[in-house]
Amino acid sequence: MVLHRISLFWSMIIEVSIKGANYKCNLNQPLDISIPLHPEGPRAWYVDKMKYEPVMTDRFTGSVELGGAVNFRNIFFNPHGHGTHTETLGHIDEEIVSINKTLKNFFFPCRLVTIDPKPYSGDENDYVKRGDEVISRKLLEKVVQDDFIEAVVIRTIPNTPEKLNKNYSNTNPPFFLPEALSFLREKGVKHLLTDLPSVDREEDGGILAAHHAFWKGGRPSDRECTITEFVYAPKEIGDGLYLLNLQIASFENDAAPSKPVLYQLLQS
Ligand SMILES: [Zn+2]
Repeated sequence: MVLHRISLFWSMIIEVSIKGANYKCNLNQPLDISIPLHPEGPRAWYVDKMKYEPVMTDRFTGSVELGGAVNFRNIFFNPHGHGTHTETLGHIDEEIVSINKTLKNFFFPCRLVTIDPKPYSGDENDYVKRGDEVISRKLLEKVVQDDFIEAVVIRTIPNTPEKLNKNYSNTNPPFFLPEALSFLREKGVKHLLTDLPSVDREEDGGILAAHHAFWKGGRPSDRECTITEFVYAPKEIGDGLYLLNLQIASFENDAAPSKPVLYQLLQS
């Protein structure tokens, strides 16, 4: 992918070349699909609400409202449990592979697709039971056909604003079958973004089959791949081709809060 600025004067329209095809992209029209981190935001994995707490000592008041000179708050949260976050294979590996050292490019050709998870009717095992709402390889094959996208955003139906503050704990949310994520890796996708709290079943005995299919296929690029969970793409953002800007807070940890922003790509 090549980015060109096409005006001598400052312009927010850039031209993007992807595999010989040219697209225009207006950087003045960002579509932020992150969910703000705040106490009423979404959560999962039985974590309590995230907390802001002013630092209070005998000599210091970390709250202007309470008489202090500055607001100086500690924040308690879990990157996997609260809000939009991006993670590496360090999530399922003995090595805490750092997201800050893994994500070194921040722009990717990306496709946003909408999927209606279907009740599973095949053979049961530890990581999938009959009746679970799942995203199969077949569902993805219908909507992910490009061979040039590096990132895919998977929005699930129903797509309601409830996603902005839902507590997913103990709700068995929809998830991906492992062959669905193997398929994405076969298509060259390195960055998966989803509005679900996880790519795997909430209770799967720790097998994490979909995470393993995405990251542990013995492919040289496995270590470069990331999964972003808890995004929200409102219905005003249509399915299609975008330039994704994926930014993270620079934590040396397997996961960090992140800010994925889409820019529409228009063929020129
Ligand atoms: Zn996570």
